Amino acid sequence: MGDVLAALRAAGADVAPDAPLAPLTTLRVGGPARVLVGVGDEAVLGRVLAVAAAAAWPWVVIGRGSNLLVPDAGWPGVAIRLDGALRAIAVAGEEVRAGGAAALPTVAIRAAEAGLGGFAWGVAVPGSVGGAVRMNAGAHGADMADAVVSARLVRPGATSAEVVPAAALGLRYRGSDVAPDAVVTGAVLRLAPADAGTVRAEMDDIRAWRRAHQPLHAATCGSVFTNPPGDSAGRLVEAAGLKGHRVGGAAVSATHANFVETTPGARADDVLRLVEEVRAEVARTTGVELATEVVILRPPSG
Ligand SMILES: Cc1cc2nc3c(=O)[nH]c(=O)nc-3n(C[C@H](O)[C@H](O)[C@H](O)COP(=O)(O)OP(=O)(O)OC[C@H]3O[C@@H](n4cnc5c(N)ncnc54)[C@H](O)[C@@H]3O)c2cc1C
Repeated sequence: MGDVLAALRAAGADVAPDAPLAPLTTLRVGGPARVLVGVGDEAVLGRVLAVAAAAAWPWVVIGRGSNLLVPDAGWPGVAIRLDGALRAIAVAGEEVRAGGAAALPTVAIRAAEAGLGGFAWGVAVPGSVGGAVRMNAGAHGADMADAVVSARLVRPGATSAEVVPAAALGLRYRGSDVAPDAVVTGAVLRLAPADAGTVRAEMDDIRAWRRAHQPLHAATCGSVFTNPPGDSAGRLVEAAGLKGHRVGGAAVSATHANFVETTPGARADDVLRLVEEVRAEVARTTGVELATEVVILRPPSG
């Protein structure tokens, strides 16, 4: 273990062994990572991935943890957080260049200030640019696919990023073809000129709508299930009578049935059991098999 930590430090990363991951997620549950590393540049990232591969330690990138369920057993390898220069946002004309660690709401605000429209929805999605590209995050009738021109991807051993055009990212409803061993270190968005005051008003409306319809006061991961074609997961969960249904410290939100709220002391297992109970009851009562939108971190087997 000491050798791997030394190699990660030599690669230029900030290294924290046995680091709790729950505080890095919006659900606030789950165990520690064997090692948490902070990485602020693409070359360091390439070296960190190579160290993990050479040690045969599994690695995962944690964005803003807003769509992530970490198991109680934690993560038995390297958990990577992008930071430093990878948080940068630069606006030039109609293009926004944002690092993989940039927060989507900050990107939305910077775009509005620059008189660019079409990204107001990002103010309500508490993820990072990297996580949002991988998930093709979206809301209020728009998604990342509408704006992304290209993304920067770093893979193990790379010394620089590969620039991948949007058409090759396979962005689709809450998913993409970004390879499991690729880290999104940045993206270029193309937006349309708009009146800054109008975009700010649009963001205010979106925030107000969220406050009225979603449990923003609680620890959640946003939508737990994707919407099945032509229907809404929240409607199905509510129709199955599951609002408020609880397992331990996890409950289906009384405000929005597609959200699970956790209370302090909740375990990841509570959330997992609740998700399975909801899925089974919705299938039993409606015949619809819901798929999870939340990413459930699973250590590789074997
Ligand atoms: C209150 C609330 C409201 C939400 N509303 C919405 C909504 O309206 N629409 C919506 O789409 N989502 C919504 N979400 C979910 C979430 O914000 C998005 O899915 C977001 O894109 C996740 O980004 P993240 O950085 O938090 O990723 P994480 O949750 O940290 O990770 C999610 C996945 O992306 C991977 N990942 C993270 N960063 C990178 C990277 N740099 N490179 C490669 N892979 C990476 C992780 O390994 C993991 O597989 C909401 C969440 C909350 C808590």
